[in-house]
Amino acid sequence: MQETQENLEGRTTVAFATLGCKANQYDSSFLEAQLRARRFRLVDFKEKADIYIVNTCTVTDRADLDSRNLIRRAARRNPEAFKIVTGCYAQTKPGEVARVEGVDLVLGNDKKAKLLDYLELGRPERPMIEVDDIFRQTELETFGMASYSKNTRAFVKIQDGCNQFCTFCIIPYARGRNRSIPIPRVLEELRSLSERGFREAVLTGIHIGTYGHDREPATSLLELLKAIEATRPIHRVRVSSIDPEEVSEEMVELFAGSRVLCPHLHIPLQAGDDEILRLMRRRYTVAEFAGLCERLAARIPGLCIGTDVIVGFPYEDEARFENTHALLRDAPVHYFHVFPFSPKRGTKAAQMLGQVPPTLKKAHAARLRALSEAKSAEFRARFVGEEVEVLLERAEDVCQNGGHSEAVWTGFSENYLPVAVTTESGFSGKLVRCRLETKEGGTLAGKDQPGREKTAEGL
Ligand code: SF4
Repeated sequence: MQETQENLEGRTTVAFATLGCKANQYDSSFLEAQLRARRFRLVDFKEKADIYIVNTCTVTDRADLDSRNLIRRAARRNPEAFKIVTGCYAQTKPGEVARVEGVDLVLGNDKKAKLLDYLELGRPERPMIEVDDIFRQTELETFGMASYSKNTRAFVKIQDGCNQFCTFCIIPYARGRNRSIPIPRVLEELRSLSERGFREAVLTGIHIGTYGHDREPATSLLELLKAIEATRPIHRVRVSSIDPEEVSEEMVELFAGSRVLCPHLHIPLQAGDDEILRLMRRRYTVAEFAGLCERLAARIPGLCIGTDVIVGFPYEDEARFENTHALLRDAPVHYFHVFPFSPKRGTKAAQMLGQVPPTLKKAHAARLRALSEAKSAEFRARFVGEEVEVLLERAEDVCQNGGHSEAVWTGFSENYLPVAVTTESGFSGKLVRCRLETKEGGTLAGKDQPGREKTAEGL
């Protein structure tokens, strides 16, 4: 289908489907913003469109299957559409993706930012693969956003790639080596988001703990956070995830005294047993993780610590699982994301012996999820009676109170507490101060305290 330029613009419809992590969601938003700027019309993936773009994930074999199903759905919706597949599955298995019925173009993560150029070329006669060696990628091209339509808080991808090669992880093969955005550009992006009314930004990427190590001269996440603290480009900043060995004492002190950095850290543990950590090729010990959590909890008031843990990694017998359970029971960690180990094609861990039976994995995952529920309920209860700052996201309910109407909005506090706020003047993206009165079904509730918002200089 050879279309002239002006035909493509202004009436061509594009539908996106995105799987996977915040970095991949960010890439899609980046591409959507570019398409909008060129007057393509974005429609829902459920609708018939002229162009379908599936931004895939490959973190598990299940994600590969979900990606193929989305491609087939697009092909059924409009067999004549230009169907483009990008993302991590496309990058790691281009041939496999190209063989899925209906695929026209397989675009690697390394070529994602050149999507518009490929649209100008039009739909190829037969499936085309545009995927190169991602490890040759030295710059991070998908950065800078025209708009954040859906989100109340803005995700800012400051880094991509990873040089670590943990044995269970395929991501380095899909995302390439560590690449970072220079500090001044990040600050500029945060300022422009604040000017557009965003009050919170979440720094995200693939392995942001290694942010800046690739720059000439090298810098670091600590230097970026210090620059944010010094210039305060936006009201509050959340760090999406950081590995234990990347949290220095200086960083602890910075968080302890900060008015910008949210007291919330997500620190992946993956396993609470040193032998399993060694088999995973992780770079810290159980004692180091526990010690770090104790220091953080002691130094940073109201800090919320979250973590990721894989259950059922090869060779994880009952005793080793109990080590993980005991660590998470006793350490000041307040919620955990629990992932039953799923062998990923192309990783070392998938070829390991000592695979754990699915039933045992399931039982262990259930125990950890129950523990996480109990610990996060205990953490929330600590804040009843406290005053917190909540970023309103969604209106849940409207009620009449005397002559005026009040609405219940939900959102998150600085330290990631889910809160239901009753207010007369809410809107999505508004920051309110709120005294937490009661705990209902796991959600804290409270009333908006007009006039108590942080003053102007607090942005
Ligand atoms: S640090 Fe490990 S788990 Fe994280 S992206 Fe890199 S290889 Fe994957």
